[in-house]
Amino acid sequence: MSTPQISEALTRIEVSRTNAMTDRATELREQGKDIISLSVGEPDFATPAHVIAAAKAALDAGQTKYTPVTGTMRLKEAAALHFRRDLGIETSAQNVIVSAGGKQSIFHAMLATVSAGEEVIVPSPWWVSYPQIIRFAGGKVVPLITHAKDNFRFAPADLEALIGPSTQWLMLNSPGNPTGAVYPRDMLEGIGEVLRAHPRVMVLSDDIYAPLNYTGEPHATLANLCPDLADRICTVSGVSKSHAMTGFRIGVATGPDWLISAMGRLQSHNSGNPASISQAAAAAAFEGPQEFLQDWNERFRARRDLVVNAINAIPGLSTPVPDGAFYCFIEAASWMERFGDDEGLAMHLLDHGVAVVAASAFGGKDGFRISFATDEGVLEEALQRIAKALA
Ligand code: GLU
Repeated sequence: MSTPQISEALTRIEVSRTNAMTDRATELREQGKDIISLSVGEPDFATPAHVIAAAKAALDAGQTKYTPVTGTMRLKEAAALHFRRDLGIETSAQNVIVSAGGKQSIFHAMLATVSAGEEVIVPSPWWVSYPQIIRFAGGKVVPLITHAKDNFRFAPADLEALIGPSTQWLMLNSPGNPTGAVYPRDMLEGIGEVLRAHPRVMVLSDDIYAPLNYTGEPHATLANLCPDLADRICTVSGVSKSHAMTGFRIGVATGPDWLISAMGRLQSHNSGNPASISQAAAAAAFEGPQEFLQDWNERFRARRDLVVNAINAIPGLSTPVPDGAFYCFIEAASWMERFGDDEGLAMHLLDHGVAVVAASAFGGKDGFRISFATDEGVLEEALQRIAKALA
């Protein structure tokens, strides 16, 4: 057997724990176990029919060859329309890159810019892949710790306190994964004010959950509120969450010329173009009707209420009400003595037929994340199993 020869860069990261837990749940199901997976953030709704039709039409039309590396002009135009119409960001196809999921856009943005010793401020709890990507790129993760009592949002002054000479990026994710935190307009304006004093700092604004906002307020994003900062903001979006298209793997990003071009340079040696059929489907998603999102939003909101009420009724568990996305970040400190740590608790819940992701995967502790992007009946059953497992 050959000796493993792992690169030094790879030793800095671990496998994605959301993906690992979801794969584990699938494996157990294939073995015939009755497992409800609340581990992955993936809408259970069917992909809209017009999107499926567009994918089939692309296949029939023979769109099965390479496309330009950074995406077809049709999809880049459609993505630019999405950034303008849905996020209020003034951009055009020239400043858009299409990649294999938002994850790849973020990966390329970091890898294309971060050098050893550069610092990236990441609000924590964070989405699993942010710190891993930054570390892989050679950067240093600077956690900006947020708390449940503040609905997991940081104040502009908290950011100011962490910015130093090596700060290169700030990650923003609103609505956020894993907490559902939504930054309102005034907080983002305050963040913008801090950034004006630090011209070196760029912002990666991950807006993938923009349509899933239960505050009743329109989505707010930094590049719209502070257009004077737009030349140092990279906004990432996609169709995975909004159009239930996770398997298509299409993400889009917009930002300054130099950055989009640097990301494209990297992509040309990495995946090359994202899948041609997926691009045709994503263009149809951005170009087509968006009205159904309101209905999905209402259903997610009802599921959120169901989950929050049920979780807060289980002894030793608590969660604030998430304002967006489809996750609850649950605190369970009083159970740690019995289970050792949050991984122990997650394994115990898995033994009781529910897959969740331990809080430590997200830079938190003593708790777990669940996704409520699952049908109400299944959610009710999962919540009963959690209650029973902790009875
Ligand atoms: N973003 C989703 C989640 O957090 C998908 C899985 C992943 O890539 O992490 O569950």
